[in-house]
Amino acid sequence: MLRTLTAGMVAVLLLSSCASSPIERQPIEELKPYVPTVELSDSSEFSDLELCRIKDGDPELTNMTAGFPIPEGRIDLRTGANVHIIGVDFVDKSGGPTSPQDQNQIYADSIQSFYEAQSSVPLEFQWNWYPEWVTMPNSINSYGLGGDFFAGKFDGNAYSNFAQALINIVDSKTDFSGSNFLFIVFPKGITSEEIGTFLVNTQTDYLTDEGSIPNLIMAGGDYVDSDTYIHEFGHGLGLTDIRDTTDIGNQNSDGMYYDMMNNPTYPELLVWHRFLLGFLGDSQLHCKTSSDPSTHWLIPVASEATGVKGVVVPLNDTEAIIVESRRPIGYDTRLEGNPSLIGTVVYTLDSKIPYHRTPVKVVDVLGLEESVEVMGYSFKVIESGAFGAVIEIVKIQ
Ligand SMILES: [Zn+2]
Repeated sequence: MLRTLTAGMVAVLLLSSCASSPIERQPIEELKPYVPTVELSDSSEFSDLELCRIKDGDPELTNMTAGFPIPEGRIDLRTGANVHIIGVDFVDKSGGPTSPQDQNQIYADSIQSFYEAQSSVPLEFQWNWYPEWVTMPNSINSYGLGGDFFAGKFDGNAYSNFAQALINIVDSKTDFSGSNFLFIVFPKGITSEEIGTFLVNTQTDYLTDEGSIPNLIMAGGDYVDSDTYIHEFGHGLGLTDIRDTTDIGNQNSDGMYYDMMNNPTYPELLVWHRFLLGFLGDSQLHCKTSSDPSTHWLIPVASEATGVKGVVVPLNDTEAIIVESRRPIGYDTRLEGNPSLIGTVVYTLDSKIPYHRTPVKVVDVLGLEESVEVMGYSFKVIESGAFGAVIEIVKIQ
């Protein structure tokens, strides 16, 4: 059951992150050759996924989504991220003797490791490092980039103008062909007064001689850590924030407790996000459209195995109920400290919920023999083990 959902789950990422040390993925012990003993429904009944491609229903947001399709300009990692990384310093703030790549390789590695671990299919990353610091001609404070986003002092135009000015400086010396993400990084030791906000921008095309770049990260403020990079990179893939961002300073969890787009504590992506991004193998999702009772074996969503990771029950074009299994493995080992979030998670998706509130909300976290009713369906865990869980789904009205 869902019991105490407290302080540790308050999400803090938007253009920022908590300052915790980056969580590392723990090696996953292969699932033991245990399999469920109860009778399972025939998987072929749930293999037509078309009705489960829940549409994007947000009336306002056009560059990120909780539903299909992924907006144009966002990156499909199956065909590849092509990232250009440019280190920038200033006449009064030197990058020092180590190169931008030396200072920032860890973030590229963290992003690639995280997303590769989320995917059951191969992903492509190409990292293009500008070899030396590009020194801007004026003082760091002259560019108007200071001021913490969380203090309401963010000036988006100043960031966009800065990015385009930088591109104009390096364009003749850089082949941006195929580039779909630009990272601008700064020397260590920058203060929030100098560059206040860790920005991701997916709403502006940055123009180069070889074409436009639709996604930008500017790594400013006190928030330069791997968690922030991984979260903001998720926006470049088209994912939206799945928490309450209306209160800039607090960013309440809003009924969701998992996934890097909610918080970095339990960052394994929801099975819904994996489906949206094309990260699942052909048979790893069940789409339940019939009203007959059914039983489904779900392996933990963080597992490296190739079994079914989730069931989607579509309710209409923009709403669904989704089920997955969460265990303290992979990037989710911190779940050990919060047993109430370990188990079979039943959550709702309503893609019409506009940006700033989460479109996915946990209904309940079920242990063995526990059940919950939601929107005309009953969900019950009828078997549980190292293999994951078996869930019985019954339409009740
Ligand atoms: Zn965000």
